[in-house]
Order: sequence, then C-alpha cells, then structure tokens
Amino acid sequence: MDSPSRIRHPAPGPAFYCDNNVHRLGRTLRMLGYDTLLFGAGPDDELRRLRDETGRKLLSRDSDFLNEENTLVVGCDDYWSQLEIVVKHYSLDIKSYRYSLCLDCNQAIIPVSVSKHAGKIPEWLVRCDGPLWQCSDCLKLYWAGSHLDHMEARFDSLG
Ligand SMILES: [Zn+2]
Repeated sequence: MDSPSRIRHPAPGPAFYCDNNVHRLGRTLRMLGYDTLLFGAGPDDELRRLRDETGRKLLSRDSDFLNEENTLVVGCDDYWSQLEIVVKHYSLDIKSYRYSLCLDCNQAIIPVSVSKHAGKIPEWLVRCDGPLWQCSDCLKLYWAGSHLDHMEARFDSLG
C-alpha cells in the first residue's frame, strides 16, 4: 500500500492560462503544482474569452494585454525571470505542491507500484522500491532523479 504521505496535491489556486510566448514558464508552473493550460496559435480575443470563461489568470509577453484584468504581462525573455515575477505577483507557495501535476498534460500524477513498471524505469529505482508516480491521463512515469534534484535547488533559491 502506498502511504498517504506520498500522495501529492496540486495547488488550490490560482490557475493559469499561458499565451504561446510563455509556454516554458507554463510547464515550470506545472512543476510547482499550479494548474496551467497552454494556449496554442490563435487570435488574442480567443485567449481573452478563455481567460474570462475559465476564471484563469492570463500570462503573456504580449503588451497588447497590458492593464487587463486577471492578466499579467511579463516583460522579460527568460522563463526563470518570468517565473520570479509570477511567484512574487501572486504570492505563490512554491514548496507545498511541487511535482503533483504532469508536465505534459496538466493532470494529477499519482503514486504507483514500482514492480508493475520495472521494465520502464532505471534498475536503481526498482532496487530501492521507488517512489514512483504516474500521470493519470497520458501514463507518463515520474521519479526523483538528478534533473529534479537540480530543479529542487533552483526552486529553493526562489524564496
Ligand atoms: Zn500526462
């Protein structure tokens, strides 16, 4: 049985809609556990409609959205600087909800048994019996590794 402490919960809010010029920012917000949809190609008004219908915060680099409600225009190119702006602006809790969402499809990831996935994960992970998580939608597998450890340190440096 998986212990309840291994279940990770996504952030209760806010939720975001990312314009197509800030998708890397959007994926990083998912990594922190914030429900984030990515807008593909389309007219600005379509994105405005989605923002208003869903109640999500719109994030964009496009100055056409300046001074609109429920919208934050981030002026810089670098996704990490953008993240710092968003974290500060919305006072995001960047510790409590990490790695609770699939980076590809924004769905919850849940603890799963290592033995059922033994052929698809590194041997060391099988030997120490996980922990291992899986996206409830696309079935992508997630585990702690050097990449996540690197992100941990970067996230900790955010504040
Ligand atoms: Zn997924």
